[in-house]
Amino acid sequence: MKVSKRVMTIEPSLTRQMFNLAQTYDDVIDLTLGDPDLPPPKEIREAAYEAIEKNKLRYSANAGLREAREAVAKRIAKVWGRGYDPQTQIAITVGGMEALFLSLSCMIDEGDEVIVLTPYYLNYIQMIEVCGGRPVMVEIYDPQKGLYIDEDALERAVTEKTIAIIINSPNNPTGDVLSKGMLQIIARFAQTHELSIVSDEVYRALLYDERPHESILQFPEAVSRTIVIDSLSKEYSMTGWRIGYAFGPEKMISNMIKLQENVAACVTVSSQYGLIAAYKRDISNRYIVETFRKRRDYLYKAISDLNLVKCQKPKGTFYMFIDISATGYRSGEFAYQLLKEAHVAVVPGVVYGKGYDDHIRIAYTKNVEQLETAVERIKFFLNKVGERKGI
Ligand code: PLP
Repeated sequence: MKVSKRVMTIEPSLTRQMFNLAQTYDDVIDLTLGDPDLPPPKEIREAAYEAIEKNKLRYSANAGLREAREAVAKRIAKVWGRGYDPQTQIAITVGGMEALFLSLSCMIDEGDEVIVLTPYYLNYIQMIEVCGGRPVMVEIYDPQKGLYIDEDALERAVTEKTIAIIINSPNNPTGDVLSKGMLQIIARFAQTHELSIVSDEVYRALLYDERPHESILQFPEAVSRTIVIDSLSKEYSMTGWRIGYAFGPEKMISNMIKLQENVAACVTVSSQYGLIAAYKRDISNRYIVETFRKRRDYLYKAISDLNLVKCQKPKGTFYMFIDISATGYRSGEFAYQLLKEAHVAVVPGVVYGKGYDDHIRIAYTKNVEQLETAVERIKFFLNKVGERKGI
């Protein structure tokens, strides 16, 4: 059977490979996937059960139930302070992932270039390529300073084929955020070059230290060219529910909805009822944020105390990006040896771009007790590395 050349270019991600390998150990502490271990709020679960019990699960409109889009419009007004029309400017999608795929599919023609900031979420690259586009990378991370924007580097990345830029803040894998100033630079840059902006904000509700969420939508010049991607996966620990949404200009959303008819038809309707409960009743995710904040505080201190590794304190998400350059290992080799010798699974930094082969990513989606054991094991492994390499 013939398989398309486009699909043949997709490589299963190293993240998934490490996750699969981790499953072959009985006592592994798996810190690979960004899949939180906490349950979603009870009211959301109850709303979904009720929809199933009452047999409300028929196909919905391709854009999602009207009530779900209205609930999202309410959330948009609260978080972004802007009015979006539930009829024409909002689409409910199968997680943030499908929102990304639908928007890129509706933007990219063969050969179009899309600027991707690195370190990146790997799926951006593969999705752009599957759509026939070409990702053009611009580096934005410094292990000492965190995220930064180099305007010259952005300018150098633009050609007559550039159509869009993807941004992600709070950021996977660094846990850092793009500051208001950086977002302003990107908004101006996109305006100057008439680029669309895909703003992936799926971690916006996981910010610590009372930090407010900064979005590119606060800049008026960005509004007419931005599609925002959001999801309930991380906000309410609802990864397996597969529900998210996109909002933006009608021209783009209406085409995404047209495409949705041919992709998923609509999002699983019980999940849509969960969304309606969450946003209509404005259900808090405070316990999720507090849990991750405690874990972050523990992990940051514990990792900072170890030899041969360095990290920045994450401002949001549930990821920590750890500099392993002093070990002399490449990230894949480090992750593999750590799994083999200490039974802790992490993601090699090279997954997030060639320049990060001296980093690993940890997802602190396990409780503090398990994190303590993981840190003990990492310490044991680093001691062995130190002895072996004489460092
Ligand atoms: N964007 C980023 C940066 C992510 O890390 C993820 C998931 O890990 C997603 C989007 C997609 O999440 P979901 O499809 O579960 O909403």
